[in-house]
Amino acid sequence: MAKRDYYDVLGVGRNATVDDIKKAYRNLARQYHPDVTKEDRKKAEEKFKEISEAYEVLADGDKRKLYDSYGHAGVSGQFREGQFTWSDFSHMSDLRDIFSDFGIGFGGMGGGDSIFDMIFGRGNGMYQRARQGPRRGQSLRYDIEIGLEEAASGFAKEIAIPRSVKCEACGGTGAKDGKVTTCTACGGRGQKSTVERKGYSQFVSITTCPKCRGTGRIATEACPKCGGEGVTFTTSRINVTIPKGIEDGTRLRIPGAGEADAGGGPPGDLFVVVHVKEHELFKRDGPDIWIEWPITFPQAALGTEIEVPTIGGKARLKIPAGTKGASVFRLKGTGLERMDGEGKGDQYVRVRIEVPQKLTHLLKRFAELEGEPKGRFSKFKKAR
Ligand SMILES: [Zn+2]
Ligand SMILES: [Zn+2]
Repeated sequence: MAKRDYYDVLGVGRNATVDDIKKAYRNLARQYHPDVTKEDRKKAEEKFKEISEAYEVLADGDKRKLYDSYGHAGVSGQFREGQFTWSDFSHMSDLRDIFSDFGIGFGGMGGGDSIFDMIFGRGNGMYQRARQGPRRGQSLRYDIEIGLEEAASGFAKEIAIPRSVKCEACGGTGAKDGKVTTCTACGGRGQKSTVERKGYSQFVSITTCPKCRGTGRIATEACPKCGGEGVTFTTSRINVTIPKGIEDGTRLRIPGAGEADAGGGPPGDLFVVVHVKEHELFKRDGPDIWIEWPITFPQAALGTEIEVPTIGGKARLKIPAGTKGASVFRLKGTGLERMDGEGKGDQYVRVRIEVPQKLTHLLKRFAELEGEPKGRFSKFKKAR
């Protein structure tokens, strides 16, 4: 498949400003984030990578100039492997910004199914860079299933999460009464370096000190509560607020509610994945609700006012005289809260005209009253 033009990928003109490009990327990144999109995941990942590649090039003055002059061939040399990989992406902080206020998981999920596990995948330059920071505890995932009514109203729920937490008795040091001495194995540096010679070259590999697990300190006596581990296991009660109008598959990130880090680093995050059950009556389409509702033949013919259920209660709906089957009526603002905070969606009512059981009887009576067709059709009758 031929590579698409970067400007087309982001949907911006050739003289778009950096701001325009940033804005376009922001919108598309939200749309194609594989963890939230309704599209096929594989396709979404490809799409997400494609827009990120276009952004990497167009947001950078030098790379953009090369691309404008020589096209794709002009920038391939800018990528480490001759073509864009996630290790070439230099706007991770932008992505962090884009998703942090959006409630989407960022970073390792433990399960390894997040887009960011893919981006930060092992053997990737980004991964190593990320690992040099302070160590963090593992992130946890909790799946929760809610009904459509709950998704509409939003609610707060307390969930029980079994997890490791920093040992309170020793403050996470693993030492009785907090008494520690400097680790003799690494001299308190927390790291060990081994020097290896291969021919004329000297290789220095730095590893985390196994004795003190990188802390540089050793307990004089192990903490009796945690056995020197620095962490204890408990079940934490955590309050989760489900926002109004939440979409199926949304991940809510609760910072610091994941596992404790045995090395004393900050705890991981908790990701609550919300699944919204299908409703037997209401079909959801984003913030909008669809419902099929029966009306009688006389109601459709003569017009009436009916009461229909909505996600939040009931609403009156006017049926005009002469309404046809499958007609759709809109009840404005009775849908779900929009996730972008711009008001509520609507409810659409598709009416189904019920064929009454007594119709045959009625029709016979009707036929008697009407007799033979009149007007220009009657002559066809005669011709038969
Ligand atoms: Zn302890
Ligand atoms: Zn050590």
